[in-house]
Amino acid sequence: MTTDVKQIYLDYQATTPVDERVLEAMLPYFSDKCGNAASRNHKFGWDAEKATQSARETIASGLNAKAREIAFTSGATESNNLAILGVAKMYAAKGKHLITCSTEHKAVLDPMAALQNEGYEVTVLDVDSNGHVDLNELRNAIREDTVLVSLMMANNEIGTIHPVKAIGDICHDNGVLFHTDATQAVGKELIDVQEMNIDLLSGSAHKMYGPKGVGFLYVRRRNPRVRLEPIFHGGGHERGIRSGTLNVPGIVGMAKAFDICLAERDEDHQRISALRDSLQTQLAAELTHLSINGDENNRLACSLNISFAFVEGESMLMGMSGIAVSSGSACTSASLEPSYVLRAMGVGDDLAHSSIRFSLGRFTTQQEVNRAAELTISTVKRLRDMSPLYEMALEGIDLATVSWGTH
Ligand SMILES: *Cc1c(COP(=O)(O)O)cnc(C)c1O
Repeated sequence: MTTDVKQIYLDYQATTPVDERVLEAMLPYFSDKCGNAASRNHKFGWDAEKATQSARETIASGLNAKAREIAFTSGATESNNLAILGVAKMYAAKGKHLITCSTEHKAVLDPMAALQNEGYEVTVLDVDSNGHVDLNELRNAIREDTVLVSLMMANNEIGTIHPVKAIGDICHDNGVLFHTDATQAVGKELIDVQEMNIDLLSGSAHKMYGPKGVGFLYVRRRNPRVRLEPIFHGGGHERGIRSGTLNVPGIVGMAKAFDICLAERDEDHQRISALRDSLQTQLAAELTHLSINGDENNRLACSLNISFAFVEGESMLMGMSGIAVSSGSACTSASLEPSYVLRAMGVGDDLAHSSIRFSLGRFTTQQEVNRAAELTISTVKRLRDMSPLYEMALEGIDLATVSWGTH
């Protein structure tokens, strides 16, 4: 990545740079190959249709799906909304109960909440301290009137990977549709919608080195055939599921990006997890009172979420200027609320506020990791030196037992 040398990008879970090979594949579709994929009577249209069809096949085959089962969207937010609202509306006569969990992305939780306002019932499963749902709880939550379970493949804040095949099996055995928001896993983890019994799956190009504003929804056509009520009404594109002129350059780019991810998956996985482990090891060698958030034995290779007790995430971000990371109190709103994901895992507000998400990717170097570690260590040490709480902890005082007195 040719950014300013002083800037280090470690926020790949928020978005990724477009791979140059992807950009190159996209460029002709902005100009020379400008056709509308729905134009049926000239070569420009045919070429655009051919390109999107080929992209559909690439994406489908990477998931062990059929091309006709892929609908293009504007991104995972739309895919999640389409899956959840679309199934809920279409199957309302069968039942109005849905199941999800507390650590899902807002693009799942918010459409669920919107359905609740319309009289649907939603069970939000709790997670344990690693971010996992209890599969027995899931089984017990399924009712006669349950129509959809939506559980993500990998979490965007902590990287925890859910046992999607086991979840899919439970849904399948109980005749309930299973949607997974796989945005963080597509191109990184092996996905097989047949083997995993997945009925609907959301993905987004910009989390896998493709462009922003384009994504897809896999919708199973056989065993069972899933039907959706569309959200957008219009020209009947995408077999009526999603009207709107296709984003041809974006779709071409997404397919190229996915293709590269699949071809280089093992190498990327190995290199990136080694860099992530190096970062974690360097931090742990110099700093005490660290806690890793997420399932260390089953998390994305790119992901490292750490709480640095006694320091504030926001102060750390200021101290670490030049390094792009996210904090657990990242303001989704104007207020500084601690991450609901960490809270759901039972992480206290203090530790949630002191958390930083480092996320690495294809273009991260060892040099950048070393520099990030160095800067993080010096910033944490400096902030802790100013913290009376840290001093008390060093003296062996158990802060939980201190009576702070309000007189
Ligand atoms: C980024 C992300 C989304 C939103 O995707 P967009 O394409 O940006 O709308 C949804 N879910 C997860 C898990 C994500 O990481």
